[in-house]
Amino acid sequence: MLIDIDKVPKDGLRLSRNFDFASLELVEEDTVFLQPVQADVTIKKMGDEIWIKGRITTCLSFVCSRCLTPFEFPIDSKFDLVFLPEEFHELKDEFDDEGIDQLFYQNRQIDIREVILEQLNLTFPAKPLCAERCEGICAVCGQIRRNGNCGCAIEESDTRREKIKIFVKDKR
Ligand SMILES: [Zn+2]
Ligand SMILES: [Zn+2]
Repeated sequence: MLIDIDKVPKDGLRLSRNFDFASLELVEEDTVFLQPVQADVTIKKMGDEIWIKGRITTCLSFVCSRCLTPFEFPIDSKFDLVFLPEEFHELKDEFDDEGIDQLFYQNRQIDIREVILEQLNLTFPAKPLCAERCEGICAVCGQIRRNGNCGCAIEESDTRREKIKIFVKDKR
């Protein structure tokens, strides 16, 4: 969905619509959309600068990286971006110095769908977990631990002993 920069009216443009994306377009390809992506976007022009403010809401199903169980992940995220024309790209070094992640538009157009997709991908957790304390699956029989104790005897993990060692060291 292309926005023509020169056709953005003086007092801005408001968009409110659903976007459909394929799971393959996402950083987490195992993700399933449980509802379409609803986006409310305001586009404003200040000279050559394009300001895009928006809000994305949707609900996805992720696969837990520890126990491999799918779980629901609602998203309600806001963003506030500024785009400059590509001619400004030569000044990129200056922006880098200031630690600004500057965005640019090309051919006097901005693809809103791409913007939404990128912002959506940014909201994803680096390591999806069904719960912060998910204990994953049993290393012996493969049962999901939160579904109950399988009764397998698992050797005391080294990390625990490691922690005691550190504790003793701190005491000295
Ligand atoms: Zn889990
Ligand atoms: Zn087990």
